[in-house]
Amino acid sequence: MSAVSLPPTVRRRMLRVRMLRRSNLCRYCRRPVAKRNSTLDHIIPRARGGTSARSNLTLACKTCNAFKGDRSPAELTAWMIRVFVASIVARIGGRP
Ligand SMILES: [Zn+2]
Repeated sequence: MSAVSLPPTVRRRMLRVRMLRRSNLCRYCRRPVAKRNSTLDHIIPRARGGTSARSNLTLACKTCNAFKGDRSPAELTAWMIRVFVASIVARIGGRP
């Protein structure tokens, strides 16, 4: 049998389905993700030099993936801490 190279979109879909079978939890919000709501996220964004190697791909829900955008994991964490602190400050009525 000759090696047939599948289009990248098909390979990504197959990888996403395999990852869903292994664990259907979004890497970021840790909620179960339905297949139609799942995406493959580049942990290190391609815009930052990340590759499409399996080790740089993770399962994420569409909401988290859109929210993460081109942030690196460290930037995402810092951003989430800022949002969290701002929400607490807003709740207690102070200034950030
Ligand atoms: Zn999520």
